[in-house]
Amino acid sequence: KKQEKVTLIGSGNWGTACAKIVAENCAKNPEFFEREVRIWVFEEIVEGQKLTEIMNTRHENVKYLPGHKLPDNLVADPDIVSAVKDATLLIFNFPHQFVSQTLEDIQGKVAKGARAITLVKGVNFIEKKHVLVSEMISQELGIEVCSLMGANVANEVAQGQFCETTIGYKNLQTGLILWKLFKTPNFHVRIVNDVKGVEICGALKNIVALGAGFCDGVKSFGGNTKAAIMRVGLMEMKLFAQTFYSSVQTETFFESCGVGDIITTCYGGRNRRCAEVYVRTRKSWQQIEEEQLNGQKLQGVGTSIEVYEILKNANLLYQFPLFHTIYLIVQGELEPDEIVRYDEIC
Ligand code: NAD
Ligand code: 13P
Repeated sequence: KKQEKVTLIGSGNWGTACAKIVAENCAKNPEFFEREVRIWVFEEIVEGQKLTEIMNTRHENVKYLPGHKLPDNLVADPDIVSAVKDATLLIFNFPHQFVSQTLEDIQGKVAKGARAITLVKGVNFIEKKHVLVSEMISQELGIEVCSLMGANVANEVAQGQFCETTIGYKNLQTGLILWKLFKTPNFHVRIVNDVKGVEICGALKNIVALGAGFCDGVKSFGGNTKAAIMRVGLMEMKLFAQTFYSSVQTETFFESCGVGDIITTCYGGRNRRCAEVYVRTRKSWQQIEEEQLNGQKLQGVGTSIEVYEILKNANLLYQFPLFHTIYLIVQGELEPDEIVRYDEIC
């Protein structure tokens, strides 16, 4: 039986944590996977040296996942075309603002019959249409695409803390091979036949995370207030998914990608933290991202804007008062403590 050849595209905080799991599993399962796993790295100079060289010699991503040893069968490649060449399984895992450019770079360069999985959390509004990252990948590259999302704060996963994740598949055969590729005793994978539902959960929870951060920043709000924002946020995620994609299943929202990720992201995520900093400092989002994240990227602000545009274009803003309110706070048009007035404002 032919072994799968795996390439990861993206090497940020989650990109690298997930590469560690995948490369370890490929080394352990030679009956299914080739030992060498490649990872495309957006090249940059760190401490006077190329990041790819550091990763290939010290086996550590010192910038995006410091302190974690990476397996030596993981090979960093700064050239995306050579990284994807001949790969049969492609793992897309980078901030969503780079999807279009990255797909353009590899169009026509991917092996025929390759399959992909997206771990990218975000949606796009292109030419007045809502587009998922999985749809962009399958349209641009003409390949099958699954999704993986869950309650997976990268640093905790890299430390080996127990957690769950959800893979959305279309063909069971592909779902099972991806299950094998990702699962470990401490990284529990459940597979569900709902690529889009899983993906939309991962994308939209970043908006709710901003709402949770606004709550944390307002001193007079406590746990009950945050719970209300999380619950209403989850309901709007479900309504959005099922309004635009009728195939999305309600059960998906009870998986790690749904309620699980809402909880972890509203307590331990970067979007939550940056939103809290916004309340305290009122600095611009760009400045907060630069000061707080050391090159890592905020996804919630961009997603909040994309989703606002999608809903406005569909004349549906009135059905999503919390998403609308969070958007207005993000834009500086409302005060953070007005988040609890979502029913009156919108
Ligand atoms: P990150 O936030 O660490 O972003 C930094 C990465 O972006 C680096 O690899 C950097 O090289 C790259 N980058 C910068 N400029 C670029 C450009 N012009 N073109 C291409 N790449 C560029 O990334 P991450 O944490 O790996 O997140 C990837 C996805 O996974 C996101 O959608 C995120 O929401 C999601 N996610 C993150 C976590 C987490 O805890 N970090 C957990 C689960 C899911
Ligand atoms: P942040 O991007 O807000 O850190 O969220 C991480 C995440 O997606 C955890 O599942």
